[in-house]
Amino acid sequence: MNDAAETGPAIRPIVIGNWKMNGLAAALAESDAVAAHLREAGASPADAMICPPATLVAAMAARLSGGPVGVGGQDCHPEQAGAHTGDISAAMLADAGASAVIVGHSERRADHGESDALVRAKANAAFAHGLTPIICVGETLDERDGGETLNVVGRQLAGSVPDEAGGAAFIVAYEPVWAIGSGRTPTSAQIEDVHGFMRRQLGARFGAAGEAVQLLYGGSVKPANAAEILALENVNGALVGGASLKASDFLEIIAAA
Ligand code: PEP
Repeated sequence: MNDAAETGPAIRPIVIGNWKMNGLAAALAESDAVAAHLREAGASPADAMICPPATLVAAMAARLSGGPVGVGGQDCHPEQAGAHTGDISAAMLADAGASAVIVGHSERRADHGESDALVRAKANAAFAHGLTPIICVGETLDERDGGETLNVVGRQLAGSVPDEAGGAAFIVAYEPVWAIGSGRTPTSAQIEDVHGFMRRQLGARFGAAGEAVQLLYGGSVKPANAAEILALENVNGALVGGASLKASDFLEIIAAA
């Protein structure tokens, strides 16, 4: 991974699977297989986590408890409880055995009109209930073509990461919207450009804590491109959608870290 002398503290990578709205109970066989393989292999080059749909969080967490694969949620409501039909709170995710939660995924920003302020409130809810927020940012294709990438990412980062994050663990995932599920990925130089920018912004805001934040890349990561992406400067892991659904693909990505 990154050379600590040149790039700050050594940061242990993490590979996180986002199953999105995929997976019935039978899919727990895939997460079981990931855990079994990592357990048998012993020391892993990276931490691993799976964020299944809410319906599977409790069952997956129970099956994987104490093992090498963490379990996270895909979203949470900013409030702890109340009249919010269909929503799930950070407290509920923690109660179900999750240790983290994705907030601000571009699909939620687009499908549910989520603002940076709402994402920040969700991240704060995660902190309040002992969950690590995985805060997602990323530009659309129009924004990239318009030369707006760093402005957009900088604005999302400033607005979505709470001030409270300086004293708690959090993860940031850079996910260009146009790379998600599309088979297209930015060039290595483009990824390093954005990740270096995020590192400087977080370092300026949070000091040593910002230097140590795990910065993940997400968007069409697969076994074939994982090694190249995960070796880039300031890339401390990956958020993986489609390729996390099959244990064998996900394990190859973890091994590439
Ligand atoms: C995601 O949605 O978080 C993602 C990275 O998806 P995919 O890997 O399928 O592009």
